[in-house]
Amino acid sequence: MSDRERTRLDPWGITEIEDYERLYRDFGIKPFKPLLPEIPNPNMFMRRGIVFGHRDFERILEAMKNGEEFAVLSGIKPTGEFHLGTLMTVREIIYFQRQGAKTFYCIADIEAYEDNNIPFEKSEKIAVGNVADVLALGLDPKKAYIYMQSKEMRVRNFAIVFARRVTLATMKAIYGERNIGLYFSALIQAGDILLPQHEDFGGPKPTVIPVGVDQDPHLRFTRDLAQKFRQKFGFIPPSSTYHKLIKGLDGSPKMSKRNPMSYFTLHEPPESIAKKISNAFTGGRPTIREQRELGGIPEVCSVYAINMFHFMEDDKEVTQLYSDCKSGNIICGECKQKTIEIVLKFVKELEEKRKKYIDVAKEILGVS
Ligand code: SF4
Repeated sequence: MSDRERTRLDPWGITEIEDYERLYRDFGIKPFKPLLPEIPNPNMFMRRGIVFGHRDFERILEAMKNGEEFAVLSGIKPTGEFHLGTLMTVREIIYFQRQGAKTFYCIADIEAYEDNNIPFEKSEKIAVGNVADVLALGLDPKKAYIYMQSKEMRVRNFAIVFARRVTLATMKAIYGERNIGLYFSALIQAGDILLPQHEDFGGPKPTVIPVGVDQDPHLRFTRDLAQKFRQKFGFIPPSSTYHKLIKGLDGSPKMSKRNPMSYFTLHEPPESIAKKISNAFTGGRPTIREQRELGGIPEVCSVYAINMFHFMEDDKEVTQLYSDCKSGNIICGECKQKTIEIVLKFVKELEEKRKKYIDVAKEILGVS
């Protein structure tokens, strides 16, 4: 099988990426690294190469450098509790909010219904917890527009208008053969992505969508619609940044709900999180002696990955872990134990903060 065949970006299914370099060549995503020196205050995902690609981020960079208006939008499909994938997106939008972006956070309940068959009433309950998490993590609700897709008529209206210029052939080319509900939810997502440019929010402006690279089909689709409707609405094609997908704790390429041992949620019982990390796939050697002599392989290790992606704020700590692992200075048992302590401390603190935001989250979502 060629690399091209092994590279598949599917927002609703299985995404496989054998080689991130291929995405530059075959999908027209641009490398993020050359922009890094120009970014006034890059976040840890950018500094560590986790954010590896973009489309038109130069436009956002200009706005950031010149203090001009720009927006950020991202969201969550309310199918369950927060996990490390959704945590990443939230941290990215908090970063852009702190850089001055008008901030939009969407609860994608239409997509949760079309893709996962989750009833709207159930989504609403899950969304309360999700929004409380977002606020506990530091998003400032006074400077953000947080909404449910199904209740936002401007998004629906955009979708209705856009639908006229979209053929079945286009949908099949971008998303493959899917049911009409998923095509419909893609139109709704296009409405979300362009919502910050609606006249009610001040009209056209550079907008960045920070996402996992599996979401790129939505960006390609919406950027095309933005061109088609440029004359009517004055849209500026949305920009995007792409982060790498964090590998599963069981060594699989991606954390997935289909495989409970590959991930943990931030509200799982501590014993369950500890057990999953204890059993995680590592880059360790078969014996302690070999590991002391040869060192481990952090590049393939899921424990190294979760530390590097989320639980080590300071770059020096990441470099230290890398070299301790490579040199055999640290062995997997000890490393896992330290990681468990860091993760459990984080989830405990988040749990306590989140409780305080439940009522605010209900008020924002209009849920009694
Ligand atoms: S020592 Fe830590 S980083 Fe290195 S392979 Fe083992 S668990 Fe992974």
